[in-house]
Amino acid sequence: MRAVVIREHGGLDRLFFEDVADPVPGPGQVRVALRATGLNHLDVWVRRGVPGHPYPLPLVPGCDGAGVVDAVGPGVASRKAGDRVCLAPGLSCGACRACASGKDHLCRWYGILGETRDGTCATHVVVPERNALALPASVSFEAGAAFPLVYLTAWHMLAERAALRPGETILVHAAGSGVSTASIQVARLLGAGRVLATTSTPEKAARARELGADEVIDYANDDVFARVRDLTGKAGVDVVVDHVGAATVATSLRCLAKGGRLVSCGATSGPEVRMFMNLVFFKSLSILGSTMGSLGEVHEVLAHVAAGRLSPVIDSVLPMSQVAEAHRRLEAREVFGKLVLVPGA
Ligand code: ZN
Repeated sequence: MRAVVIREHGGLDRLFFEDVADPVPGPGQVRVALRATGLNHLDVWVRRGVPGHPYPLPLVPGCDGAGVVDAVGPGVASRKAGDRVCLAPGLSCGACRACASGKDHLCRWYGILGETRDGTCATHVVVPERNALALPASVSFEAGAAFPLVYLTAWHMLAERAALRPGETILVHAAGSGVSTASIQVARLLGAGRVLATTSTPEKAARARELGADEVIDYANDDVFARVRDLTGKAGVDVVVDHVGAATVATSLRCLAKGGRLVSCGATSGPEVRMFMNLVFFKSLSILGSTMGSLGEVHEVLAHVAAGRLSPVIDSVLPMSQVAEAHRRLEAREVFGKLVLVPGA
């Protein structure tokens, strides 16, 4: 097969689309011939490396993918060659208390395709059969590769962690990112009364409105807190989705209404934040961390995608040989929604 292989961390010149040995499915595993691969910011972290976090190099990155099963290992009962599938990115032991409780994302052995084992930036990938979900004919391979990680993340943040209720007001930072485009749609689906979003360009603002944002704040030129105060009649918002971290958390806490919840799934601008605890206790705020979500939630999100209630936003589709250009665009934030790679080109 052909695969993007990261042999050492570094810049864009570390990405090679090369010939490697075909993976063979073991017991309970299936091999999927990928038709589309979705990129995430996680791919950039895997390429650059993260201090103190060892990755098992050499590693094929890529968390999201969709394709056709082309081989099955011994004992596989639920999938057969020829099945259209999309992949759940989370990997867990399947046997511990967390897994048995349907909270496999809390498994102490939890991993992610393309982070802890070879992923989807390849023509083929081997996964446990439970990670290969039947992809309805109504969902394209590109959409099947674009939705799992970001919609799972957004769904778990809003439906489970923040428990967003119908009518509530939500603020979503950096609306152009994959997880933010998903969060705007999920908030709408859950019945949010009002969705506020921040972006940096008029083009992204227009697209955020198309997705369902009622108000868009230009974080590059406007005072986000002052705008939120104006837009909410000084009340603040009930929920903030913050994956930016250092640059935004202090503002996010100020923007929250009494009883508000900040939910975080990342810190792209840095993890070290300064916060005022008086805001937290005076306003009875909750600060909620969230990583991925359960396998059951991937099924739940897929059902919404299949029914057209959630529609992954695809910025563009590139040949996998242009993976370095795709990483460059992700890092430069020249993307609205998802970049999808197609192998064999
Ligand atoms: Zn487990």
